[in-house]
Amino acid sequence: RREQLKRLAVQPSLTADGEHLELAANIGSVEDLAKVLENGADGIGLFRTEFLYMGRSSFPTEEEQYRIYKHVLEKLNGKRVVIRTLDIGGDKELPYLELPKESNPFLGLRALRLCLQREDLFRTQLRALLRASTAGKLNIMFPMIAVLSELREAKRILAEEREKLQQEGIPVSDSIEVGMMIEIPAAALSADHFAKEVDFFSIGTNDLIQYTMAADRMNESVAYLYQPYNPSILRLVHMVIKAGQRAGIWTGMCGEMAGDQTAIPLLLGMGLHEFSMSAGSVLPARELVSRLSRKEWAELAEEALAMGTQEEVKQFVEQRSTT
Ligand code: PEP
Ligand code: MG
Repeated sequence: RREQLKRLAVQPSLTADGEHLELAANIGSVEDLAKVLENGADGIGLFRTEFLYMGRSSFPTEEEQYRIYKHVLEKLNGKRVVIRTLDIGGDKELPYLELPKESNPFLGLRALRLCLQREDLFRTQLRALLRASTAGKLNIMFPMIAVLSELREAKRILAEEREKLQQEGIPVSDSIEVGMMIEIPAAALSADHFAKEVDFFSIGTNDLIQYTMAADRMNESVAYLYQPYNPSILRLVHMVIKAGQRAGIWTGMCGEMAGDQTAIPLLLGMGLHEFSMSAGSVLPARELVSRLSRKEWAELAEEALAMGTQEEVKQFVEQRSTT
């Protein structure tokens, strides 16, 4: 079986009814690249840039960041690389970044919220990304957006930095896609508005589930509420994908759910285009989707969406996907 899977590393990601999908990998460091290439991922769907800022005593410079982004883009050799801007705060702290103590860090100043307050940090990262953009197929993704004004502000700053670089005579790719994570229920519910202003969505189910169920994703005592196949989560995911389709943009997913063998048939049926997961899950996912028909699962997903509990959904999918 391992040999069979290995052969799939050089195959395209195709469903049984001939639809092309992107099965991409998540990376959290440069060391993860080897596995991405080895497993034949169709791209990188989430590059968590936090590691560049962690385990050190000062912010990484523009030059340091530029070199790493360029390296990753070159290694992927023209495949899509989605780089997420800094998602610090919440449980991830930086010793050299003095922030006021918060009683609810996950509901506080994290990710893009922090970047919009500390524009200096944000601009440095964006410049590094823009400079690296000519080395491959770069997508820039903003995390933790709740309202349109945050997205607009982030895009305005990005456009300003692009303009500055151009005035300095530094080349910047003109085919960068700019997208956002959907990981706050407010953004999922307003996806139709957001879809008009981005090139793509990527659903971050790790946070989307925790915020929808009001259950800390790390807290064992409420782990029973952490339900990827709960109808409320499925409805939000479905809404986002449909809003994307209506606006003509693609939707991906980069939370753990994207690599989950029980979730994949449903996500496929709902019309998800890109699935980003840990590199080790890519080949099993490619094998699974090759046995699934999008058309058939579109109907089955409708049925699942009408169910009342996660247990029913899980049992339903498991029965239908093994036959
Ligand atoms: C998510 O929230 O689903 C996600 C991919 O981001 P992170 O796990 O880094 O918060
Ligand atoms: Mg997240």
